[in-house]
Amino acid sequence: MKIVADLHLHSRYSRAVSQQMELETMAQWALKKGVNLLGTADFTHPLWFREIKTKLKEVFPGIYQLKTAPSPYFVISGEISSIYTQNGQQHRIHNLILPPNFSAAEAIIKALEKRGANLHSDGRPIIGLSSIQLAELVFSTAPEAIIIPCHIWTPWFSLYGSRSGFDSLKECFGPFSEKITAIETGLSSDPTMNWQIEELTNRQIVSFSDAHSPIKIGREATVFEGEKETFSFSALKAGLENKEGGLKILFTIEFYPEEGKYHYSGHSRCQVRRSPEEIQKQGNLCPVCGKPLTLGVAYRVYQLAKKTISSVKKEKNGVVFQYHPDGSRPPFVTLVPLVEIIAEAEQSTPTSQKVISLYEEMITQLRDEFSILLDTPLEKLTSLFGPRIGEGIEKVRKREIFIEPGYDGVFGTVKIWSEQEKEVKKENQMSLF
Ligand SMILES: [Zn+2]
Ligand SMILES: [Zn+2]
Ligand SMILES: [Zn+2]
Repeated sequence: MKIVADLHLHSRYSRAVSQQMELETMAQWALKKGVNLLGTADFTHPLWFREIKTKLKEVFPGIYQLKTAPSPYFVISGEISSIYTQNGQQHRIHNLILPPNFSAAEAIIKALEKRGANLHSDGRPIIGLSSIQLAELVFSTAPEAIIIPCHIWTPWFSLYGSRSGFDSLKECFGPFSEKITAIETGLSSDPTMNWQIEELTNRQIVSFSDAHSPIKIGREATVFEGEKETFSFSALKAGLENKEGGLKILFTIEFYPEEGKYHYSGHSRCQVRRSPEEIQKQGNLCPVCGKPLTLGVAYRVYQLAKKTISSVKKEKNGVVFQYHPDGSRPPFVTLVPLVEIIAEAEQSTPTSQKVISLYEEMITQLRDEFSILLDTPLEKLTSLFGPRIGEGIEKVRKREIFIEPGYDGVFGTVKIWSEQEKEVKKENQMSLF
């Protein structure tokens, strides 16, 4: 069976998260998106933990489902923010923890509390333990648990972040670095960028949404293949370790990395944005305020990469997938969320009632968002929802779109139709009257 996994997201108990992020709504949206394995998020929060424990039942070892509502599968998950000083430098690192079952989750919670962690105030708690101490605590309490460093390139809170991180996994996780077998790309990077990092050669590259509201669930995801008979948390773990018998990563679903908030470098206040090549030529001081620019993901990859690798693009059933040149890594596909495609096709905004109604209707008729974006024949899309929707999805599948890279906390923008194409369309419309 195919398992579309989104294991990094947040509940309403995390800061700046929608109140709608409660289990039933998360489950409902996961199914709409085509995600069938979801993280519970925030398992370290006492109130949320009580809720997930009450509402979920185990259906495979370490795999859960809602007792009462239609449900994807769940694994227990939570993100922890470590803020600490190591060798005189401050670090802020986010790690995703996946305990193998509820008793292991409870043991990890107890161990964290024993070390003085305040788990009550935020679903994504901030702790003073280093990544090494956290890994030691987790693996000594629950050896079967999984730790995945999150969005590893973002400047402020990540493993390789320009303002928060390290230059290697070894420095960050010390003796536990061998146990870190998978990393999360985050929105601002894609697998190609990560293939260029030597120490990631033998590590799995995964993508999850980090959703703070239901509609963002699945904006990035990892697609596995596995046997239903042996489906379990340990099959997931073996998959993330690239071991025989584990779930096999078929491909990842990515956001356009340029759309991420920290792709390029710059200063949002001063409206200065620079590509890695521009930083290389002009330096990293802001021409407006004179202070150092926030160095983005593209530049950090450029700094740490030992080699340059370009992906090979191949079309499969009309969808462009990107492959490692020697075929050694799972490929990936880059998508634009369906509401954004509808919004542009309808010349409206993703949050407008018109766009939301059409989105809901498409899901009702065609099952889920991933099947619409990847599988539904274009003729069917066009005949049901008109040529603009069909054309928009075709352009996304073929990567024929326009992007302005994000920088210093400002999201990048994606345009499916160029201004020119829009003008032509307006003229055609006018000539109808
Ligand atoms: Zn994070
Ligand atoms: Zn997060
Ligand atoms: Zn500036």
